[in-house]
Amino acid sequence: MLLKFWGTRGSIPAPLRPDQVEQKIIAALEAAGREQVNLSNPGAIREFVANLSFNGSTVGGNTACVTIELGDDLIIFDAGSGIRELGDYLMDESNKRAKEFGFARGKGHAYLFFTHTHWDHIQGLLYFKPIHVPGNVFDIHYVHEYVPDVLARQMAPEFFPLPLDQVSASLNFHRLEAGAWIELAGATITNMELKHPGKAYAYRVEADNAIVVVATDSEYKSLDYTNTKKYSNFYANADVLIFDAQFSVRESFVKEDWGHSSALIGADIAREAKVKRLLLFHHDPATTDAEIMRVLQETEEYLGHRKGITEVMVAQEGMEIYLSNPIPASDFYIKDHLEKDIIVISLSGKFGAYATEQFRNHLANSLQTHEANKVILMMGNIGELTIAGIRALVDARKSVTSLALVDVPQNIYLVFELSGTTDFFAIYKDVDAALSALNSNNSE
Ligand SMILES: [Zn+2]
Ligand SMILES: [Zn+2]
Repeated sequence: MLLKFWGTRGSIPAPLRPDQVEQKIIAALEAAGREQVNLSNPGAIREFVANLSFNGSTVGGNTACVTIELGDDLIIFDAGSGIRELGDYLMDESNKRAKEFGFARGKGHAYLFFTHTHWDHIQGLLYFKPIHVPGNVFDIHYVHEYVPDVLARQMAPEFFPLPLDQVSASLNFHRLEAGAWIELAGATITNMELKHPGKAYAYRVEADNAIVVVATDSEYKSLDYTNTKKYSNFYANADVLIFDAQFSVRESFVKEDWGHSSALIGADIAREAKVKRLLLFHHDPATTDAEIMRVLQETEEYLGHRKGITEVMVAQEGMEIYLSNPIPASDFYIKDHLEKDIIVISLSGKFGAYATEQFRNHLANSLQTHEANKVILMMGNIGELTIAGIRALVDARKSVTSLALVDVPQNIYLVFELSGTTDFFAIYKDVDAALSALNSNNSE
C-alpha cells in the first residue's frame, strides 16, 4: 500500500508568495554556508537540498487530495486542488508507473472517495485531466446523498464551461451508508461520521496488513473519554492517521463549531488509539512552513516521554509513505530458483495464516517469471504448519501442473496426517528424487 499526498492545505489553496520563496532561498543559502556545502559539486548540492527542512522546502499550497495505490488499483480521497497535480502525474506516460495506470490512453480506472463537499475537497475535479479522457472510469463513493448534485452544480455554466454530465470519462456514483463497510481493490473500507459543519466522513482503509485512516475536517469539541473513545476506536492501531490539525489548541477552544482540530488534540487521540504515525493535515492557508514546523516540534515536545508508539509527521505535498506490515509473516521466508525447468521453492519459518498470502503471491509471481508450471516445495526449514498453510498448499496444486513436497520434517508430516491430506501431495525425500520424478512425468 503506497500512500501519497497531493494536497495537504485546508480551506483554500495557498501558493507561496514571492517574498516567501525569497526567504527560503536566503535560509537555504545560509544553511549551505554554515554546513560548508561544496557548491561546485552537483551531487553535494542535491544531497543538501534533499535534506532541507520546510524552511527551505514547503508543505505545499494545494488543498486536500490523498491517494492510496494498491497493486494496480488507485484510490483517491477528495478532489481539492491537489488532484490537478495527481492528474498531471497520471497523464505523464514517460513515468512508468503512471503509464501502467493507462489514464492518458483512456484505459484508466480509479476509485474516488469524498469526505464531504466543502470547496477545498471538490474544487480540483474540474482540472483533473483524466476525467476529460474518453474511456477512463471513475467509481465515486460518498456518504452525503447530495454529492453528485454538488459536483454538477460547481460545473454549472456560470462557473465552468463544461457541465459534469458532458465530461468524457465515465463517472459511476455509489452512495455509501454511514458506518457501512465495503471491500474493493483488495481493501476493506469503513467510514465514520465526523463532527464538522454539514458533517464529514472519515475513511479507514485496511489492506496489505496495514491501516490508513483519512480523518480530515473534524472538530473534537468534547474531549471527555466517552466522546473521544468512538474516534480512538475507529482510528485504533492505524499505521497512519491523517488528522485535521488546522487550528492551534487555543484556536480550537475559541473557534467553537468551526469544525477543525489541532495537532495536540490529535496527539492525545492518536496515543489513546495506539496510532503509529500521526500525520498533521489540513494546514491553515495562513500558516507558513516555519509555523507548521514549530507545531510539529511542539507536538513532539507535548508527547515527550508519554509518546508511546506514536510518531508525529507533517503531511507534505509529494510525500510518499509505503506501508506493508509483514509483521508475523516476517517469520516466514520464501526463496526460489529454476532447476531443469522446474521451480524449486524453499520455505522456512512459520507457515500459518499470516504467511499464506505471501506464499500465494510468491507462487503466482514465480510461475509467471520463470514461465514454468512444475513446482517443488522444500519444506525442511518449516518450523510450524497450520491448517491455513495446508489450505494454501491444497490450493497451490490447482495453479500448477505438478507439485511435489520434499524434505518434510516429522512434526510437519504429522499435520498432513492429522488433516487427512497426505494423499493430496507427491512427497519425496529430497529435491533430486522429486526432480527426476517430475521430469519423467514430462516425457510421458
Ligand atoms: Zn476542508
Ligand atoms: Zn470542511
